Amino acid sequence: MRTPVIAGNWKMNNTIAAAEKLIGELKPLVKDAKAEVVICVPYTAIQKAAELTRGTNIKVGAENVAWADKGAFTGEISAEMLKEVGAEYVIIGHSERRQMFGETDETVCMRTAQALKNGLKPIVCVGETLAEREGNKTEEVVKRQTEGAFKGLAAADLDNVIIAYEPVWAIGTGKTATAEQANETIKYIRSVVSSLYGKATADKLRIQYGGSMNPANASSLMAPPDIDGGLIGGASLKAEDFSKVVNY
Ligand code: PEP
Repeated sequence: MRTPVIAGNWKMNNTIAAAEKLIGELKPLVKDAKAEVVICVPYTAIQKAAELTRGTNIKVGAENVAWADKGAFTGEISAEMLKEVGAEYVIIGHSERRQMFGETDETVCMRTAQALKNGLKPIVCVGETLAEREGNKTEEVVKRQTEGAFKGLAAADLDNVIIAYEPVWAIGTGKTATAEQANETIKYIRSVVSSLYGKATADKLRIQYGGSMNPANASSLMAPPDIDGGLIGGASLKAEDFSKVVNY
């Protein structure tokens, strides 16, 4: 049995003070969650979030990580730095990074390897655009992104990886994939992992759905057998909404 994991992606939202308020409200609301709970927060809020969630069932993550150990990479942040302030997880290859900041399958792969090398658990995002879905390219795209992200990794590395299947057309748009569409693509991604690493590894791997998941649609999106939780953007910014998704 795979334990579902519900991860919030705060994106570029919440100062330290706002993070303190949100986490304070969230803690009692999710304390009995059956799913694993993660909040991925801006770099500046990681240390405070880690302090405030110590001893609770909420884990903290970052939203990106550099592919190098250290050095001349202005604006980047290293895995060691993220670990130092208490991050356990890190989102890699989010579609906003791919679309606006030039993230490629190669850089996603390098960042994923670097996270794993340093004991950070990557949440690797894959997903097709609307044009790709309409052009019947969904499988081709998620296969390329999945194979690209994991190049050079061993099967044992996959134990510490989560994939988030996020159709780009569903992120922040209010449009969600149907549970059937999400499950079908996630099942396909699992088959890609199975051909790379074998069925046992693929069966253990947690694959989330992400894209406008909210309290109203969470339980139906979480129902199909291949969907192992969610990556939640907008609805993770309000404690009540996020807790309702967590406690779907
Ligand atoms: C996301 O950014 O990963 C996401 C799924 O956003 P939203 O829930 O707002 O669509």
